[in-house]
Amino acid sequence: MSNKAKHHVILALLTSWILIAPFQTQAQNSPRLILQITVDQLRGDLPMRYMDRFGEGGFRYLWEQGVVYTDAYHNHANNETIVGHTTLATGATPAAHGMIGNVWLDRETGETVYNIEDARYQLLTAGAVVNQETELDPTQRAARSDGRSPAAILVSTFSDELAASSAGKAKIFGVSVKDRGAVSMAGHAGTAYWFSKANGEFVSSTYYMPSYPEWVNQWNRQRHYTRYADTEWQLQKPQESYLFGDSDERSWEVDLAGFGRSFPHSFGSTDSPYYTTLLTVSPAGDELTMDFAKTLIENESLGVDEVTDYLSVSLSSTDYVGHLFGPSSLEAEENLLRLDQLLADLFAYIEVNIGLENTLIVLSADHGAPDTPGYSNSLNIPGGYVRPETWDQQAAIERLKQRFDIETELIENYQHPYIYLSAEVASRSDAEREAIERAVAAEVALFPEISLAISSRSLEYGNLPDNELINAVLRNFNPKRSGDVYVVFEPNWFINDMDGLEVASTHGSPWRYDSYVPVVFAGAGIRAQHVHRRIVTVDVARSLSAYLGISPPSGTTGSILFEILE
Ligand SMILES: [Zn+2]
Repeated sequence: MSNKAKHHVILALLTSWILIAPFQTQAQNSPRLILQITVDQLRGDLPMRYMDRFGEGGFRYLWEQGVVYTDAYHNHANNETIVGHTTLATGATPAAHGMIGNVWLDRETGETVYNIEDARYQLLTAGAVVNQETELDPTQRAARSDGRSPAAILVSTFSDELAASSAGKAKIFGVSVKDRGAVSMAGHAGTAYWFSKANGEFVSSTYYMPSYPEWVNQWNRQRHYTRYADTEWQLQKPQESYLFGDSDERSWEVDLAGFGRSFPHSFGSTDSPYYTTLLTVSPAGDELTMDFAKTLIENESLGVDEVTDYLSVSLSSTDYVGHLFGPSSLEAEENLLRLDQLLADLFAYIEVNIGLENTLIVLSADHGAPDTPGYSNSLNIPGGYVRPETWDQQAAIERLKQRFDIETELIENYQHPYIYLSAEVASRSDAEREAIERAVAAEVALFPEISLAISSRSLEYGNLPDNELINAVLRNFNPKRSGDVYVVFEPNWFINDMDGLEVASTHGSPWRYDSYVPVVFAGAGIRAQHVHRRIVTVDVARSLSAYLGISPPSGTTGSILFEILE
């Protein structure tokens, strides 16, 4: 063989190796179960803060045995529960999946819409309706119907694609204390169960089934929620051993219905209208969710055959505790220690019944959280509360009313993160509306607590600067659902009055404390490594699809996290 011929053979061998090798490393995986855990409001740094205080088998299993992405962010602007969950479920941005906020204003009817409300699909449990008096969640109170479905999610979820790829054989479930934490992840093809604060049971809607399977009735009949009656949420360790042990009672923490600002926190009796609400502001909410999830795994026979099943468990206690006490509080610290034990229990249960080597676990969060202004101010870090209800009376806005001859209110409503202008503005010509919206945005942007205000028309048609903040707002923009002017507060400034309910901290900004979340994959033979490359949360659903070798969700803009395929 001539030198040239040898050269050709070597080149051919090299080429074939290059072509074949990637296919070999990307062979389809088929774990028996994909377990997606979403911890509501778990900011990316918080597991690290307490890692040396955690026990074995929970967070430490994930962080020591898994692929840990240490620099993961939601890249949309409005970091709220439904927005983050749906982004994790679909690998799409809110612009595409349509969940731009927990609530939005329906321009046809002029009514506020709660993200997953759907009057066509009523709850299967009579009387499990939202209690307007005691509901801690203002977005729930905004819903006008008790029906629920995923119909408003405009793209497919990873779990939908799993259903489609398996001829409907994959079993798909979403469980959460919050309805939106369950419905978003179960997608269109799965089944969702969530906790009803009205009656302490896990419920679902007629979208999913005509009636409950017997195991659900049985679990509900056992009235698990009553086991906390007349007990207290207590610290498990000596108080001085905690990072926040010397700062339990802080003036900025919220005392909801006598739950108090310091340990022990009393749940009261089951007769109290706030009893079930208080369970969710403590580890009890997560305990009930985990108990229901394990019962589901057993009774629905998840992970028993060669078809990959999917279970989403969304845990809400961290969010409610964060809202009332702040993420840097003794309550939040104790809650995370308890969450760590619950995760360890769940993983031990999976190891016995399915095997961790047969289960791909992915853990992330729907959003992070700011520290409370009280806590920040105590460290000389600035921060405070914003009052949008005062904006309409500001001198600058009054001047605009005169200029445009508007006799009603101009800023009629603020539904985070959007300003909605009055009906008077909507009645004007297109050119006039555009001028008014731009003028309002320009004036609001000058308020000291405001970082950015941008009209929806500018987002739709404008020649916008290419910067991170504006791109995050654009990814959150859906012309059918977005309000008139998108508002971003300065860092550490936010609303604490949510429809009359006072809270200590609120997320919902594009800033890092709200967008920074953990992303960890573990189990199913994944090799441990910590990856410091920056990733975004739309990558999660895209990567799960790649891991199984199935179609990406329809609206995903994510990239494949190749470390989980190695
Ligand atoms: Zn929240």
